[in-house]
Amino acid sequence: MQPEKLLLIPGPTPVHPRIINSLSLPTVSHVSSVLIREMKEALTNLKRIVFSQRGEPFVISGAGTLAMEMAVLNTIKKDERLLVLSQGYFGARMAKIAQSFGLEFDIVDSPWGEAVPAEKLERKISEREYAAVVSTHVDTATGACAPVKDYGYLLKGKEILFIIDGVCATGGIEERMDDWGVAVILTAAQKCFGAPPGLAILVLSEEAMARRKEMNSIPAYYSDLLNWLPIMKDPSKYFSTPCVNEIRAFCESTRIIIEEGLDNRFRRHARTAQAIRAALDRLGFSLFTHKSYLADTISVVNYPPGVEDKEFRQRLSQKGVVVAGGLGPLAGKVFRVGHMGNLSTAQVYFALQALEATLAEMGYKFEKGSGLEAAQVVLEVEG
Ligand code: PMP
Repeated sequence: MQPEKLLLIPGPTPVHPRIINSLSLPTVSHVSSVLIREMKEALTNLKRIVFSQRGEPFVISGAGTLAMEMAVLNTIKKDERLLVLSQGYFGARMAKIAQSFGLEFDIVDSPWGEAVPAEKLERKISEREYAAVVSTHVDTATGACAPVKDYGYLLKGKEILFIIDGVCATGGIEERMDDWGVAVILTAAQKCFGAPPGLAILVLSEEAMARRKEMNSIPAYYSDLLNWLPIMKDPSKYFSTPCVNEIRAFCESTRIIIEEGLDNRFRRHARTAQAIRAALDRLGFSLFTHKSYLADTISVVNYPPGVEDKEFRQRLSQKGVVVAGGLGPLAGKVFRVGHMGNLSTAQVYFALQALEATLAEMGYKFEKGSGLEAAQVVLEVEG
């Protein structure tokens, strides 16, 4: 038997036994009363999680990238223009998606580790007409959290749809659709929801749905949200067979979020991030991400001299903790640790103990136990 490992990569995140249990139930008919009930419950909870009163929620087999495609395909016409605000890797992906569908777009990049300031967005929309603006909330490669609330307030009341890629944020960091004037939040199951991968998740505002309806046909079939809308309204209807077990697991993940309470959950994410960073700082590690843009869901950590990427991650994994390497130009220079979803304090302590043991094995000089102690101060004394 393979030993179980603690997944601290930036998604998939550790899956709570309650969610695993619902995943392991025998597969039921996709039009059975139990699935209809759980799908409806999951959709209602999803709207609560993004603070949307009248939006339309969608949960569809796929993953975050499918949700990215669906968001732009269903809201932007051929002769319209999209503005992509990019912190790095996933903004660039959004631009590639727009390009693949022949959509006109401009991209505003920030340096890696930072996000586009709201003033730049203000300037850009005064220079040219855009049908929509899309921003990644937290870029999973750089760890940068964009000021999406500021973007939202800037765009609110204008005829520009605001789309947030919340794959590394939704359910872990506040996203208030109605208050901030957000048109689309797209996300996936495997990060802050703590469910296994397998779902493309979206909520569209009334304005965004109206835009889709105005468009008549779009160059998509499975990705056409109008084909899915009747199923989301009445899950006893059929369009394409849903992943029954995954939907039940997702439903359970949303129950856990609602039970915890959204404010508590956001606070727990912030405190966990702070504890892990206090430990890393005490151990002499610095963060790649600029301090004004740190996200509560992920830390991108620079390697100090003498700690080699592959050896470090291999040794840490042998001790039961899996972290991710750097993406693109950051490969070999940083490691990425996800701290989102249903991560417990015990899991954080276990990970920090494994980290210290790994560093000691590699001959790295530090005061033993100091990282763990710094985290305990945040989680037990200050918390
Ligand atoms: N956007 C962001 C911010 C992400 O972190 C990811 C996945 N890491 C994606 C989109 C794509 O999601 P998926 O891998 O589920 O297709």
